[in-house]
Amino acid sequence: MFTVVIIFIIMLVMTSFGVLQVLSSALESAIQKNDSVYTEVEEKVQSVVRLVTSISNLEMMQKTDISLQERALLLRPFQDEYELLMVAVMDSQGNASSSLEGGIADLSDREYFQQCKLTRKTVVSDVIISRTTGEANIVIIHPILEGAEFKGAIFASILVTDLIQFTEFHSNYSAGYQTYIIDKNQNYLVGDQEGVHDFDKNRMMESKNKDAFFYNTNKGIFTVAIEQEPLTQWGIVTELNVIKYYSDVWLIMLGILGVIFTLIIVIINELKNQHRLQIVPLIEKLNRDDLTKVANRSFFEYEVKQWLKAYDTGVFILLDIDFFKQVNDVLGHRAGDKLLVETAKQLKLIFRKEDIVARFGGDEFAIFLPDVTDVDTVKMRCDQILSRLAKKYHHTNKQINVTASIGVVFVDEEHRDYEVLYEAADVALYEVKKRGRNGAVICNKHESLYVTPSSPVVNLREIYEENN
Ligand code: GH3
Ligand code: MG
Repeated sequence: MFTVVIIFIIMLVMTSFGVLQVLSSALESAIQKNDSVYTEVEEKVQSVVRLVTSISNLEMMQKTDISLQERALLLRPFQDEYELLMVAVMDSQGNASSSLEGGIADLSDREYFQQCKLTRKTVVSDVIISRTTGEANIVIIHPILEGAEFKGAIFASILVTDLIQFTEFHSNYSAGYQTYIIDKNQNYLVGDQEGVHDFDKNRMMESKNKDAFFYNTNKGIFTVAIEQEPLTQWGIVTELNVIKYYSDVWLIMLGILGVIFTLIIVIINELKNQHRLQIVPLIEKLNRDDLTKVANRSFFEYEVKQWLKAYDTGVFILLDIDFFKQVNDVLGHRAGDKLLVETAKQLKLIFRKEDIVARFGGDEFAIFLPDVTDVDTVKMRCDQILSRLAKKYHHTNKQINVTASIGVVFVDEEHRDYEVLYEAADVALYEVKKRGRNGAVICNKHESLYVTPSSPVVNLREIYEENN
């Protein structure tokens, strides 16, 4: 039991470890995705910064002898090449003309313009909704300076939905990842398949890990998101669909549960085996005769009774060693024991595996032959017993002739009970003793044969009937 508990605890620890492994490797991979997207978005923004900077240094952009519209039209190739929403040129008052349409728009109230004019530096705007096109975009604006004088600016805007290509590339829906771009105020979520939409900060939950926070998506899926910091203008969020990872975790857990289950079964079997190993010798001991190791009387009785419940055949043999007491008295008890062991051994050799050889106690043995029905077989077996057990012992000037007396009864209509068989075999045995021992009386329905090694077979029943 103690082992099972220990194994269970180990498995639980391993399961937790497995769960942590799966989640932490997923987080690791999400962080890497974030880094890649961040680099690509940053690269895109920086390339536009380089573009507007170089355009603003072009001489023709500083010319005042051509109109704003004419200058704007010169910017058209840049718009196409850089896949921008528009590239525009503006004067110091905030009037702008874009590569898109060639008209003039007053952008003097735009925050990015005012900031650029004030700082005379490149400005990268937040996500803004274009008043002309209605689309979400970011604006990168660089001043045109003549000395320290602000002469105007060049600006380009990136359609934020264009950034989806980066996030799409790094999202792996089947693996449970979805990558988004958020603006620096976390107002807009870019990179969803549905385009640009609000990013609901309320769904976020604080996490101790600064790289990761949790929030609940509309679909009710509990997800983990990783934020890229510090943000230039953009943050990258990669959502992990935890449900997706749960299935992996479940697989691990299932595997581990399988191992636990198998182990428990192995342990139970092992315990059962141990139990059997302890119990089998005990049962053996209960059924065996201590000295000779053949069956004991009670086991013999049980087995014969079981047989007789189902079948009406069989032969009951009772055997007693003749003059056994003399062996004990003259040669000693140990010699007697040895003779008993030897007798059991010989009986085991004479009879088949399916026959039951038992010691009833003292020098009395019994044998049951379950399916034997013919007298000749039994006669042959009795002959074998008589010849093999016959022994002469010499001690000083004394000779002991050890032989055996055998009483045999066949199972028939009148002899179908164990007790009846036993008693009849005992009577037959007594008959042999009475007639001088070293022989067998074999009784079946028709005859009672007296068999001895030396004389011819006599049918006692015939003699008895003649005498009457
Ligand atoms: P009979 O020819 O009439 O059978 O006479 P017997 O001398 O063989 O005597 P009997 O069968 O009546 O008695 C058997 C003796 O066996 C009685 C007892 O002292 C002895 N005995 C009983 N159990 C054991 C045992 O475990 N070991 C030994 N050595 N002797 C035993
Ligand atoms: Mg005896």
